[in-house]
Amino acid sequence: MPLTSADIVFLEIARVKAFVSVDEAEQLKVELLRRHDNGEMIGMPQLFQEFEVLDGPQSAWLLRACSKQARRCLDCARNTYLLAGQRSQNIPCEHCQGSLRPGRIDPERQNSGRLTKQRISTEFAHEKMREYLEKSGANDIRAFYKKKNDRRPKS
Ligand SMILES: [Zn+2]
Repeated sequence: MPLTSADIVFLEIARVKAFVSVDEAEQLKVELLRRHDNGEMIGMPQLFQEFEVLDGPQSAWLLRACSKQARRCLDCARNTYLLAGQRSQNIPCEHCQGSLRPGRIDPERQNSGRLTKQRISTEFAHEKMREYLEKSGANDIRAFYKKKNDRRPKS
């Protein structure tokens, strides 16, 4: 399965804001695709959380920035996320190829149910990933981020 627009936009904004380097972004992308190949249908935000790529404020900022890129489909009402410079008129819905509504989704409405649900599923995915990693043993990207996190001052 290819990455969703939500995952692509999340990673792209992280890269543009220099939260991750070009190399890290590439590794995270490869890792997420590998997970999907293994039937682990997690999103990029969950992967970031697993590897502790961002601190809390960065993470909150990034999720907000991504939600501003969401455009709702007029046909199926699901969201497609736009990269900088993409216009909803030129991009079809990634789920049904329908037309996207121009303009942002009302952030108040977006935040009410959705984010809570997202947080719950993130925690659930986090749990599943720990089990998965314990079973599969060491893996490269994890070692990579461990190294990176060791350089950070302890909070
Ligand atoms: Zn649609």
